[in-house]
Amino acid sequence: MIDQQLKSAIRDVPNFPKPGIIFKDITPILRNPQLCESVVDSLVAQLPVTRIDAVAGIESRGFLFGLMLAQRLGKPFVPVRKQGKLPWRTVSQEYALEYGKAVLEIHEDAFEPGTRVLVHDDLLATGGTVTATSELIRKLGGSVAGYAFIVSLESLGGREQLYAYSKDIFSLISY
Ligand code: IMP
Repeated sequence: MIDQQLKSAIRDVPNFPKPGIIFKDITPILRNPQLCESVVDSLVAQLPVTRIDAVAGIESRGFLFGLMLAQRLGKPFVPVRKQGKLPWRTVSQEYALEYGKAVLEIHEDAFEPGTRVLVHDDLLATGGTVTATSELIRKLGGSVAGYAFIVSLESLGGREQLYAYSKDIFSLISY
């Protein structure tokens, strides 16, 4: 039910951000408050909630539902941002893009060692972004409690990369 609603809401944008890429645009979901509520309900229903101490959301679309998930679970929200955006002392992790590299950062006092962190992003593709986030969590002495996505693109091998951190990988729809 929710998967059909999400599939109708999510819009394919050809040639964005580069020629040849078909971008899955989740922003139409945000126009529908009831659908937003259902996204959070459906993710929470699948998650190992008793094993989650905090939720990390990845800039920028991971902030949208990441904070909602954290609020619903009554747990802290941890923003993971692109290099140079966080104001306090940070820990960094470089990762490979299709062409070149990028860096993600987390505040060094984002959570205490031993914290079990659920990682949220809007979409899983190759897994590079959430793998870098998982490394940041490890660097701070935390562990990955699982992954929650709205969309996963299953042909790109991202899911298998994440098994090294957690096998609890949830997504509401897959292509
Ligand atoms: P990955 O690192 O290859 O798994 O790519 C996932 C990251 O790129 C996430 O932060 C997504 O927000 C973003 N991304 C890649 N492709 C799309 C897309 O088609 N729609 C929305 N976000 C995307």
